[in-house]
Amino acid sequence: MSGGRLGATVAPLPASHATSEREDPFAAAAAAGIHRLAIPTPFAVGRVNVYLIEDEPLTLVDTGPNSGTSLDVLQKGIAALGHSLEDLELVIITHQHIDHLGLVSLVASQSGAEVAALDVAVPFIENYSEEFRAGDDFAYEMMLRHGVPADVATALRSVTRAFQAWGARADVTRVLGAGDELRLRDRALRVHHRPGHSPTDTVFHDEERGILIAGDHLLRHISSNPLITRPRDGSNERPQSLVTYLESLKATRATDLELVLPGHGDPITDHRALIDERFALHDRRANKIERLIAERPRSAYELAQALWGNIAVTQAYLTLSEVLGHVDLLLNAGTVHEVDRNGLSVFAAG
Ligand SMILES: [Zn+2]
Repeated sequence: MSGGRLGATVAPLPASHATSEREDPFAAAAAAGIHRLAIPTPFAVGRVNVYLIEDEPLTLVDTGPNSGTSLDVLQKGIAALGHSLEDLELVIITHQHIDHLGLVSLVASQSGAEVAALDVAVPFIENYSEEFRAGDDFAYEMMLRHGVPADVATALRSVTRAFQAWGARADVTRVLGAGDELRLRDRALRVHHRPGHSPTDTVFHDEERGILIAGDHLLRHISSNPLITRPRDGSNERPQSLVTYLESLKATRATDLELVLPGHGDPITDHRALIDERFALHDRRANKIERLIAERPRSAYELAQALWGNIAVTQAYLTLSEVLGHVDLLLNAGTVHEVDRNGLSVFAAG
């Protein structure tokens, strides 16, 4: 969610009027005992949504990043709802990104809460530092292979390394499997693996109420970039993150839902229309990339520059992931092919 949008809601109205001006978009969730807390992060994405579920056990979905400010906001938010951080009994993790799980270990140790995560996420959460570094090395190699200049790749790597401290390892005490039912006193949450944005994206479906707690699988204001993430099998194969993501979106589209509670920004009440918009966006982008490749063979970095100019430099890995995701669609359709030029990947028509 952009700063501008947040700023716009802070209107110079008397406090008594402010609440009636704009209906709380999270009111329906709150009525179901699910309370959104917006935790600050140092990242471009802005605040992260964590959810306190007033049930037995008292449950927190995600925690926010590992920082004193985030912890402070989290504690105050929980207190405003009449609980304390020490009362938490269960912490559920939606995926491996540090803006969501950096505080898990600290929250678990202060409260004694169990920590639940999908089986595929466990190695990443428990071996955070090693995984982070290995992921970083993988990203660096990917950037070089796809034409990002070495000095840009090196500069980006030092930026990423500085982010490492916003995450932290945690012990997962309750390992979930896809299809499992997580039972709380007043609700049951069906656990689904919906990879693509990250390899570990997990959504929690309250089938009775039609509520989906979705992490970053589906966001209203921004498309959930399917980041190319190091494969867990130790191979250096590039995983087809966007292809995987589109499959996951199809599964969510097929699900009847009243309300999707995302990891950033406002809730979603029309998930099918939003998912169709995302499908159309990715179609358009793939077509555009196909036309650029038809003009002449190009590396993914050259494609990113043609599409986004300087953003391809400052956000090289993000835009590279975006381009490669769409190139994968074209590779699978057989309309482009990959050529190796002395270790540099170039994409050509046909
Ligand atoms: Zn994420």
